[in-house]
Amino acid sequence: MQFGTKAIHAGVEPDPSTGAIMTPIFQTSTYVQASPAQHKGYAYARGANPTRNQLQKSIAALENGKFGLCFSSGMGATDAVLRLLNPGDEVITSNDLYGGSYRLFTKVYERMGIKFHFIDLTEAGNAEKYINSKTKLFWIETPSNPLMRIIDITACVKLAKAHRCKVAVDNTFASPYLQNPLDLGADIVMHSVTKYLGGHSDVIMGALVTNDEKLHQELAFIANSCGAVPGPQDSFLVLRGIKTLHLRMERHCANGKKVAEFLRTHPKVGKVYWPGFADHPNHAIAKKQMRDFGGMLSFTLKNDSVDVAKILMENVALFSLAESLGGVESLINHPASMTHASIPREERIKNGLSDSLIRLSVGVEDAEDLLADLEQALAKV
Ligand SMILES: *Cc1c(COP(=O)(O)O)cnc(C)c1O
Repeated sequence: MQFGTKAIHAGVEPDPSTGAIMTPIFQTSTYVQASPAQHKGYAYARGANPTRNQLQKSIAALENGKFGLCFSSGMGATDAVLRLLNPGDEVITSNDLYGGSYRLFTKVYERMGIKFHFIDLTEAGNAEKYINSKTKLFWIETPSNPLMRIIDITACVKLAKAHRCKVAVDNTFASPYLQNPLDLGADIVMHSVTKYLGGHSDVIMGALVTNDEKLHQELAFIANSCGAVPGPQDSFLVLRGIKTLHLRMERHCANGKKVAEFLRTHPKVGKVYWPGFADHPNHAIAKKQMRDFGGMLSFTLKNDSVDVAKILMENVALFSLAESLGGVESLINHPASMTHASIPREERIKNGLSDSLIRLSVGVEDAEDLLADLEQALAKV
């Protein structure tokens, strides 16, 4: 089945009790049993809910995986993966992670005796000298935020497998439309469903997908024991969002390309970070493991200062100044003062996040209008 057909049909069946083509919102906390411990897989809704089950099947199918699990947020999903570890275990991960993941790793799990190595994984071989008998997990995020660096998933999997480590990939930026890490040998795919899968900026949710039944059982046990599960209304909204995932992604990619090319030739723009450019340092890997290059990009201004970046952000009209990404509407974000404000300036600059760096989540509006909006705002800086 092709991706678009899967987005509409996979894992989703008409409701067996009524034939309703759209999965109903099963707004219930518990299920009546005919006799003690006799039920049809539904006893209590923390453990299972039919709306959530359909969504889990749908997301698993989109990632070419057998088992899906949904969580109340992307961080809830990430947290469930880390709960597989024991004190003393070590994790290899990249040095430009999503801020919330970095916070969870350093402020919550380091306290519990898990050690994290934050390294430049754009060269998978860099990990080699940090691997030892305690290393249990590779946590990979590609493309990265906000510099759109690309990590070679296949190369990391090869290295991890040689040392019996599991590989989890945060696939939020790519979405399953652009990249399927399980096909490349990863053990777990994580999504902030909040972003492209939901697609309409109206839900917070996370998901994990795996092909490994034992791993799935362990994660399902954690989900039920720890309880970070999403509700049926949110599950319904995401089931609805997924039906247009391929259509939205097509437009996100087309618009992303147009905006990236427009910015690259603009006299007031410095550098543009977008993996679709042939001279992007990881373009070859992006081309190999992704189907297209997505609608996320970042750029700097020639006049590289926080104040000048602020003028631009205050003058855009169609791009909304907000955190998050992956919705139908275009968003603009300033890492130095927003998502990455907690990093000391010196360290931030050292990591390539200059003062004027601006991140765009290019939406699915008409590209001409987006370009005109950027043009008029750039004229003011
Ligand atoms: C948003 C995001 C998360 C966290 O997901 P939430 O749904 O906000 O908890 C994790 N990773 C990436 C790459 C994200 O963009």
